[in-house]
Amino acid sequence: MSSTQILCPKCRQLLHKSVDLEMRGEIKKAGGYTIHLGDPQETISCPSCGFPIPVEEIIDGKHDLPQGGCVETIIVVVIMIALFGIIIKFST
Ligand SMILES: [Zn+2]
Repeated sequence: MSSTQILCPKCRQLLHKSVDLEMRGEIKKAGGYTIHLGDPQETISCPSCGFPIPVEEIIDGKHDLPQGGCVETIIVVVIMIALFGIIIKFST
């Protein structure tokens, strides 16, 4: 699960990733290849300052919210440990 929000590298404005970008990010993480439609150097203009953010960097998660990703990872780990504990408890 990747962050659905990114920060503009210039003005730090909080932006939401489009579903398309999220999908491409997940596919890339899973080791797949994404097909580029149109210009591979495409950028998304920040609605706040107009800074062109490279789509490739968004997909790579370079502009993801740092804290959000961490919290999500911790939650996933805690759930995994809890589930593992339950499995062990019931299997003995
Ligand atoms: Zn900006």
